Amino acid sequence: MPRAALVTGSTSGIGLGIATALAGAGYDVMLNGFGTEAEIAALVSSLSSHGVRVSHHPADMSDPAQVAALVEATVSAFGRLDVLVNNAGIQHVARTEDFPAERWDAVISINLSAAFHATKAALPHMQRRGWGRIINIASTHGRVGSEGKCAYVAAKHGLIGLTKVVALENANAGITANAICPGWVETALVQRQVAARALEGGISEAEAAERLVGEKQPMKRFTRPSSVGALAVFLCSDAAETITGSEQVIDGGWTAQ
Ligand code: NAD
Repeated sequence: MPRAALVTGSTSGIGLGIATALAGAGYDVMLNGFGTEAEIAALVSSLSSHGVRVSHHPADMSDPAQVAALVEATVSAFGRLDVLVNNAGIQHVARTEDFPAERWDAVISINLSAAFHATKAALPHMQRRGWGRIINIASTHGRVGSEGKCAYVAAKHGLIGLTKVVALENANAGITANAICPGWVETALVQRQVAARALEGGISEAEAAERLVGEKQPMKRFTRPSSVGALAVFLCSDAAETITGSEQVIDGGWTAQ
Protein backbone atom coordinates (compact mmCIF):
# COMPACT_ATOMS: atom_id res chain seq x y z
CA MET A 1 0.00 0.00 0.00
CA PRO A 2 1.56 3.38 -0.94
CA ARG A 3 2.28 5.89 1.77
CA ALA A 4 -0.23 8.70 2.23
CA ALA A 5 0.36 12.42 2.66
CA LEU A 6 -1.85 15.26 3.81
CA VAL A 7 -0.84 18.75 2.68
CA THR A 8 -2.88 21.58 4.20
CA GLY A 9 -3.51 24.63 2.04
CA SER A 10 -2.50 22.81 -1.13
CA THR A 11 -4.80 24.30 -3.76
CA SER A 12 -2.19 26.91 -4.68
CA GLY A 13 1.39 28.08 -4.22
CA ILE A 14 3.87 26.19 -2.04
CA GLY A 15 1.32 23.64 -0.82
CA LEU A 16 0.45 22.73 -4.40
CA GLY A 17 4.16 22.50 -5.23
CA ILE A 18 4.65 20.08 -2.34
CA ALA A 19 1.52 18.03 -3.12
CA THR A 20 2.62 17.73 -6.76
CA ALA A 21 6.13 16.62 -5.77
CA LEU A 22 4.76 14.04 -3.29
CA ALA A 23 2.34 12.66 -5.90
CA GLY A 24 5.28 12.45 -8.32
CA ALA A 25 7.20 10.49 -5.68
CA GLY A 26 4.36 7.94 -5.37
CA TYR A 27 2.44 9.18 -2.32
CA ASP A 28 -1.36 9.17 -2.18
CA VAL A 29 -2.29 12.78 -1.49
CA MET A 30 -5.07 14.54 0.40
CA LEU A 31 -5.40 18.10 -0.83
CA ASN A 32 -6.96 20.85 1.27
CA GLY A 33 -7.66 24.52 0.65
CA PHE A 34 -10.04 26.88 -1.08
CA GLY A 35 -11.01 26.94 -4.74
CA THR A 36 -13.99 26.48 -7.05
CA GLU A 37 -15.31 23.00 -7.70
CA ALA A 38 -13.87 23.12 -11.24
CA GLU A 39 -10.42 24.29 -10.06
CA ILE A 40 -10.24 21.54 -7.44
CA ALA A 41 -11.42 18.86 -9.90
CA ALA A 42 -8.65 19.97 -12.30
CA LEU A 43 -6.00 19.71 -9.54
CA VAL A 44 -7.21 16.26 -8.46
CA SER A 45 -7.12 15.08 -12.06
CA SER A 46 -3.69 16.58 -12.72
CA LEU A 47 -2.07 15.01 -9.63
CA SER A 48 -3.82 11.66 -10.27
CA SER A 49 -1.91 11.45 -13.56
CA HIS A 50 1.05 10.30 -11.43
CA GLY A 51 -0.83 7.04 -10.81
CA VAL A 52 -1.61 7.78 -7.16
CA ARG A 53 -4.89 8.32 -5.31
CA VAL A 54 -5.77 11.99 -4.80
CA SER A 55 -8.62 13.48 -2.83
CA HIS A 56 -9.62 16.91 -1.52
CA HIS A 57 -11.14 17.95 1.80
CA PRO A 58 -12.45 21.52 2.30
CA ALA A 59 -11.60 21.90 6.02
CA ASP A 60 -11.20 25.50 7.14
CA MET A 61 -7.91 25.44 9.06
CA SER A 62 -9.07 28.18 11.42
CA ASP A 63 -11.53 25.69 13.00
CA PRO A 64 -9.92 23.01 15.24
CA ALA A 65 -12.83 20.57 14.76
CA GLN A 66 -12.47 20.78 10.98
CA VAL A 67 -8.70 20.26 11.23
CA ALA A 68 -9.23 17.04 13.21
CA ALA A 69 -11.90 15.95 10.69
CA LEU A 70 -9.42 16.53 7.86
CA VAL A 71 -6.88 14.18 9.45
CA GLU A 72 -9.52 11.48 10.02
CA ALA A 73 -10.83 11.90 6.44
CA THR A 74 -7.30 11.27 5.15
CA VAL A 75 -7.00 8.07 7.16
CA SER A 76 -10.46 6.97 5.96
CA ALA A 77 -9.58 7.70 2.32
CA PHE A 78 -6.18 6.00 2.23
CA GLY A 79 -6.16 3.70 5.27
CA ARG A 80 -3.12 5.45 6.72
CA LEU A 81 -1.37 8.79 7.22
CA ASP A 82 2.41 8.87 6.89
CA VAL A 83 3.26 12.44 5.97
CA LEU A 84 1.69 15.62 7.36
CA VAL A 85 2.66 18.93 5.78
CA ASN A 86 1.36 21.89 7.76
CA ASN A 87 1.43 24.53 5.06
CA ALA A 88 -1.80 26.57 5.09
CA GLY A 89 -1.03 30.16 5.91
CA ILE A 90 -2.20 33.72 5.49
CA GLN A 91 -0.50 37.08 5.81
CA HIS A 92 -1.58 40.53 7.02
CA VAL A 93 0.68 43.57 6.89
CA ALA A 94 0.22 46.52 9.29
CA ARG A 95 2.23 48.16 12.05
CA THR A 96 1.55 46.63 15.46
CA GLU A 97 -0.37 49.66 16.82
CA ASP A 98 -2.68 49.50 13.78
CA PHE A 99 -2.91 45.69 13.53
CA PRO A 100 -6.58 44.59 13.73
CA ALA A 101 -7.02 42.10 16.62
CA GLU A 102 -9.26 39.99 14.40
CA ARG A 103 -6.41 39.62 11.84
CA TRP A 104 -3.99 38.67 14.64
CA ASP A 105 -6.37 35.90 15.72
CA ALA A 106 -6.82 34.66 12.15
CA VAL A 107 -3.08 34.54 11.41
CA ILE A 108 -2.28 32.75 14.68
CA SER A 109 -5.08 30.20 14.25
CA ILE A 110 -4.31 29.31 10.61
CA ASN A 111 -0.50 29.63 10.63
CA LEU A 112 0.19 28.17 14.09
CA SER A 113 -2.72 26.59 16.00
CA ALA A 114 -3.88 24.55 12.97
CA ALA A 115 -0.46 22.87 12.87
CA PHE A 116 -0.84 21.89 16.53
CA HIS A 117 -4.35 20.49 16.00
CA ALA A 118 -3.32 18.55 12.86
CA THR A 119 -0.15 17.21 14.49
CA LYS A 120 -2.04 16.12 17.60
CA ALA A 121 -4.58 14.22 15.46
CA ALA A 122 -1.95 12.75 13.10
CA LEU A 123 0.65 11.53 15.61
CA PRO A 124 -1.25 8.46 16.93
CA HIS A 125 -1.61 7.16 13.34
CA MET A 126 2.14 7.58 12.74
CA GLN A 127 3.12 6.18 16.15
CA ARG A 128 1.03 3.06 15.49
CA ARG A 129 3.08 2.31 12.35
CA GLY A 130 6.41 3.52 13.76
CA TRP A 131 7.02 5.83 10.83
CA GLY A 132 6.08 9.42 10.07
CA ARG A 133 7.18 12.73 8.65
CA ILE A 134 5.86 16.06 9.87
CA ILE A 135 6.92 19.05 7.81
CA ASN A 136 5.98 22.52 8.97
CA ILE A 137 6.16 25.30 6.40
CA ALA A 138 7.57 28.12 8.48
CA SER A 139 9.49 30.97 6.83
CA THR A 140 12.54 33.17 7.14
CA HIS A 141 10.07 34.96 9.40
CA GLY A 142 10.37 32.05 11.81
CA ARG A 143 14.02 33.06 12.22
CA VAL A 144 14.08 36.86 11.87
CA GLY A 145 11.51 39.67 12.01
CA SER A 146 10.28 42.22 9.50
CA GLU A 147 8.32 45.40 10.17
CA GLY A 148 4.56 45.17 9.67
CA LYS A 149 4.28 41.43 10.21
CA CYS A 150 3.84 40.96 13.98
CA ALA A 151 1.28 38.15 13.80
CA TYR A 152 2.99 36.29 10.97
CA VAL A 153 6.46 36.50 12.57
CA ALA A 154 5.07 35.43 15.96
CA ALA A 155 3.22 32.48 14.36
CA LYS A 156 6.24 31.33 12.36
CA HIS A 157 8.61 31.56 15.35
CA GLY A 158 6.01 29.56 17.30
CA LEU A 159 5.79 26.97 14.53
CA ILE A 160 9.54 26.36 14.74
CA GLY A 161 9.17 25.89 18.51
CA LEU A 162 6.37 23.37 17.98
CA THR A 163 8.55 21.54 15.42
CA LYS A 164 11.37 21.13 17.95
CA VAL A 165 9.11 19.76 20.70
CA VAL A 166 7.38 17.25 18.39
CA ALA A 167 10.82 16.16 17.12
CA LEU A 168 12.10 15.57 20.66
CA GLU A 169 8.99 13.74 21.82
CA ASN A 170 9.20 11.34 18.84
CA ALA A 171 12.97 11.03 18.44
CA ASN A 172 12.89 7.24 18.83
CA ALA A 173 9.47 6.60 17.35
CA GLY A 174 10.52 6.64 13.68
CA ILE A 175 8.92 10.04 13.27
CA THR A 176 10.77 13.19 12.26
CA ALA A 177 9.51 16.77 12.50
CA ASN A 178 11.20 19.56 10.58
CA ALA A 179 10.50 23.12 9.53
CA ILE A 180 11.12 24.48 6.04
CA CYS A 181 11.99 28.18 6.04
CA PRO A 182 11.54 29.69 2.59
CA GLY A 183 12.45 33.25 1.65
CA TRP A 184 10.42 34.81 -1.16
CA VAL A 185 8.49 32.21 -3.17
CA GLU A 186 6.42 33.28 -6.16
CA THR A 187 2.84 32.57 -5.02
CA ALA A 188 -0.55 34.31 -4.66
CA LEU A 189 0.35 35.27 -1.06
CA VAL A 190 3.36 37.28 -2.28
CA GLN A 191 1.57 38.53 -5.40
CA ARG A 192 -0.95 40.32 -3.15
CA GLN A 193 1.93 42.12 -1.37
CA VAL A 194 3.51 43.03 -4.73
CA ALA A 195 0.22 44.44 -6.04
CA ALA A 196 -0.28 46.52 -2.84
CA ARG A 197 3.25 47.95 -3.09
CA ALA A 198 2.86 48.75 -6.81
CA LEU A 199 -0.34 50.66 -6.08
CA GLU A 200 1.17 52.47 -3.08
CA GLY A 201 4.38 53.46 -4.90
CA GLY A 202 2.84 54.15 -8.33
CA ILE A 203 5.25 51.65 -9.91
CA SER A 204 4.81 48.59 -12.10
CA GLU A 205 4.24 45.20 -10.48
CA ALA A 206 7.49 43.95 -12.04
CA GLU A 207 9.43 46.77 -10.37
CA ALA A 208 7.58 46.28 -7.06
CA ALA A 209 8.46 42.56 -7.13
CA GLU A 210 12.14 43.31 -7.86
CA ARG A 211 12.30 45.80 -4.96
CA LEU A 212 10.48 43.45 -2.57
CA VAL A 213 12.90 40.60 -3.16
CA GLY A 214 15.98 42.85 -3.30
CA GLU A 215 15.25 44.44 0.09
CA LYS A 216 15.73 41.12 1.87
CA GLN A 217 17.49 38.58 -0.30
CA PRO A 218 21.07 38.79 -1.59
CA MET A 219 19.87 36.47 -4.36
CA LYS A 220 17.44 38.59 -6.32
CA ARG A 221 15.09 35.88 -7.47
CA PHE A 222 12.10 34.00 -6.19
CA THR A 223 12.29 30.36 -5.06
CA ARG A 224 10.00 28.11 -7.10
CA PRO A 225 7.18 26.20 -5.29
CA SER A 226 8.49 23.04 -7.00
CA SER A 227 11.87 23.51 -5.27
CA VAL A 228 10.18 23.58 -1.87
CA GLY A 229 8.33 20.44 -3.00
CA ALA A 230 11.61 18.70 -3.83
CA LEU A 231 12.99 19.61 -0.39
CA ALA A 232 9.88 18.16 1.28
CA VAL A 233 10.25 14.91 -0.70
CA PHE A 234 13.88 14.70 0.44
CA LEU A 235 12.79 15.12 4.09
CA CYS A 236 10.48 12.12 3.56
CA SER A 237 13.29 9.95 2.20
CA ASP A 238 15.31 7.36 4.10
CA ALA A 239 18.41 9.53 3.63
CA ALA A 240 16.73 12.16 5.84
CA GLU A 241 15.80 9.73 8.64
CA THR A 242 18.06 11.45 11.21
CA ILE A 243 17.18 15.00 10.22
CA THR A 244 14.75 16.11 12.92
CA GLY A 245 13.95 19.29 14.80
CA SER A 246 15.72 21.24 12.08
CA GLU A 247 15.12 24.44 10.16
CA GLN A 248 15.65 23.80 6.44
CA VAL A 249 16.50 27.19 5.00
CA ILE A 250 15.69 27.88 1.34
CA ASP A 251 15.90 31.66 1.21
CA GLY A 252 18.36 32.99 -1.37
CA GLY A 253 20.75 33.99 1.44
CA TRP A 254 18.21 36.16 3.33
CA THR A 255 19.11 34.89 6.81
CA ALA A 256 22.83 34.44 6.09
CA GLN A 257 23.28 38.19 6.64
P1 NAD B 1 -1.00 30.88 -1.16
O1 NAD B 1 -1.88 32.01 -0.79
O2 NAD B 1 -0.56 30.71 -2.58
O3 NAD B 1 -1.66 29.49 -0.70
C1 NAD B 1 -2.24 29.34 0.54
C2 NAD B 1 -3.05 28.06 0.55
O4 NAD B 1 -3.67 27.94 1.83
C3 NAD B 1 -4.19 28.02 -0.48
O5 NAD B 1 -4.37 26.70 -0.94
C4 NAD B 1 -5.39 28.48 0.34
O6 NAD B 1 -6.64 28.03 -0.20
C5 NAD B 1 -5.08 27.81 1.66
N1 NAD B 1 -5.73 28.42 2.80
C6 NAD B 1 -5.71 29.72 3.21
N2 NAD B 1 -6.47 29.86 4.30
C7 NAD B 1 -6.98 28.63 4.59
C8 NAD B 1 -7.86 28.14 5.60
N3 NAD B 1 -8.37 28.94 6.54
N4 NAD B 1 -8.18 26.82 5.57
C9 NAD B 1 -7.69 26.00 4.61
N5 NAD B 1 -6.87 26.43 3.63
C10 NAD B 1 -6.52 27.72 3.63
O7 NAD B 1 0.24 31.02 -0.17
P2 NAD B 1 1.75 30.44 -0.22
O8 NAD B 1 2.66 31.60 -0.49
O9 NAD B 1 1.84 29.23 -1.05
O10 NAD B 1 1.93 30.08 1.31
C11 NAD B 1 1.92 28.75 1.80
C12 NAD B 1 2.71 28.69 3.10
O11 NAD B 1 4.06 29.04 2.83
C13 NAD B 1 2.22 29.65 4.17
O12 NAD B 1 2.28 29.03 5.43
C14 NAD B 1 3.20 30.79 4.08
O13 NAD B 1 3.32 31.47 5.28
C15 NAD B 1 4.46 30.05 3.73
N6 NAD B 1 5.52 30.87 3.14
C16 NAD B 1 5.33 31.52 1.96
C17 NAD B 1 6.37 32.27 1.42
C18 NAD B 1 6.25 33.00 0.11
O14 NAD B 1 7.15 33.77 -0.22
N7 NAD B 1 5.20 32.78 -0.67
C19 NAD B 1 7.58 32.35 2.09
C20 NAD B 1 7.74 31.68 3.30
C21 NAD B 1 6.70 30.93 3.81
